[in-house]
Amino acid sequence: MSNTKKFAVITGGSKGIGLSCAKCFILNDFDVCLIARNQVELEKAKAKLDELHLGKVYIQSLDVSDSDKVLAFAKSLEEITAKVDVLVNAAGINIRKEVENLSFLEWKKILSINLDGTFYMCKALLNLLKNSSKGKVVNVSSLMAVVTRSGVAPYAASKSGVSQLTKALSVEWAKFNINVNAVIPGFTLTEMAEDLVNDTKFNGFVMERTPLKRWAQPDEIADLVYFLASEKSAYITGVSIPIDGGILASIGWR
Ligand code: NAP
Repeated sequence: MSNTKKFAVITGGSKGIGLSCAKCFILNDFDVCLIARNQVELEKAKAKLDELHLGKVYIQSLDVSDSDKVLAFAKSLEEITAKVDVLVNAAGINIRKEVENLSFLEWKKILSINLDGTFYMCKALLNLLKNSSKGKVVNVSSLMAVVTRSGVAPYAASKSGVSQLTKALSVEWAKFNINVNAVIPGFTLTEMAEDLVNDTKFNGFVMERTPLKRWAQPDEIADLVYFLASEKSAYITGVSIPIDGGILASIGWR
């Protein structure tokens, strides 16, 4: 059983922001467990992290929107670790469609992965988080929790849910010395945003709209996640912190 190092569970850990978080935790002396659905992508992520020859890397193929499987995963995790010091909920999807073209099924899928999945993971890992004397939950929210645009209704609803869930859990779990926070990434260069990066018009919009005039790198988001999972942020709980190149500060007028 791995009790010597700190232990982080990272959903969405096979790619993008989640994988950057995993790298950051491994570099800071953690063992990590990566969760995603696609086993092949998980194995590729593990291989990359194993090249660092640092902490242990566990992988688990799991759909976070399946509550029974999330509970079974939490039970199986007890065989590997007696505690979870950090839970990062980065698993997320988006289907960009205006509501008039969106099916109920698509609405449900986005809400069930982004919001229900975050809740299931938090609840299922609560006992293991309690076993760490200083548990930390970091949820990955979005700009769309604060502002919206066409084609993101379910995503925006799910992410504002994630930010409110973050506040509610922070209040309830302060008695367990568990900090619960979220990050609000701006436009970040990952697979999820690939089609937007390749869309010249949208890319131009991001450049125009972002005061820092660039997309975020996933490693930059990971650094904030790591800060919120570290003792440097021990007095911060219940907040969703933007890391967005200044977008939310600007009305976008030249
Ligand atoms: P990404 O590169 O597409 O990675 C998404 C990760 O989530 C993958 O590992 C994916 O693996 C996993 N995932 C998706 N559905 C899952 C499910 N049902 N169960 C378990 N894992 C699942 O996306 P990203 O950009 O890094 O996004 C990470 C988080 O940041 C998301 O919550 C996203 O909403 C948020 N975010 C992204 C941006 C951006 O501009 N990129 C901005 C703001 C917020 P599988 O597909 O194999 O399951």
